[in-house]
Amino acid sequence: MIYLKSPREIALMREAGRLVAQAHLVVKQHMQPGITTREIDLAVEDFIRSKGCIPSFKGYRGFPASTCICVNEEMVHGIPGARKLQAGDIVKVDIGVIYKDYHGDSVWTYGVGELSPEKKHLVEATENSLMAGVAQAFPSKYMGDIGHAMQKVAEDNGYVVQREYGGHGVGRNLHEDPSVPNFGEPGRGIPLRVGMTIAIEPIVCVKDPSALTLSDKWTVVSKHNHLSAQCEHTVAITKDGPQIMTVL
Ligand code: MG
Ligand code: MG
Repeated sequence: MIYLKSPREIALMREAGRLVAQAHLVVKQHMQPGITTREIDLAVEDFIRSKGCIPSFKGYRGFPASTCICVNEEMVHGIPGARKLQAGDIVKVDIGVIYKDYHGDSVWTYGVGELSPEKKHLVEATENSLMAGVAQAFPSKYMGDIGHAMQKVAEDNGYVVQREYGGHGVGRNLHEDPSVPNFGEPGRGIPLRVGMTIAIEPIVCVKDPSALTLSDKWTVVSKHNHLSAQCEHTVAITKDGPQIMTVL
């Protein structure tokens, strides 16, 4: 069931999203060689709680941390831990915040120090893929338009999108209907409607997106050790088009 949100609810989600964006500034400050992913996680949790809010992911279906952090070949749902970041790593940090019962959800991919041109290109293409998807979020369009736009940017850059893990509705629940695939056909899928709030979150892989889940039951990695990047915004569909929630 898709819950359409009122302007009041969208305003609350905007505040949740603003806090997510602020938490990403905390991440940016900590993104340096030698830091562990757990230290980044704790800094984000401290920030969220200092605002009187709750990290969406902590305890969600038993998830043990406040952020998901994935390095290089790790793809999604990584549990922060003792891994030390090294110069040249790409690091995907996914953050959710609950503000007055509403969630904001956003992933960004960071570089540690200077990235190789190949990694830089992957990260930029992923950001462009996300924004191409966001640009389709109009009430006259279909879910397939969003997926197609993301897929096209990825493929035009020589990459492939991950098809097993995609976006989702978000609101009072971290994950709700509808699902938001990273691929699609223009004009296909459910019609987009005013009041839908969705997390758009392409995972772009350099090649073969095959994935497997580690024995921690959460961390999903590339089966063949390939790099991937991911970017995500929470977006409300308004009569005038997309309103991005997860910005400052
Ligand atoms: Mg997320
Ligand atoms: Mg999400």
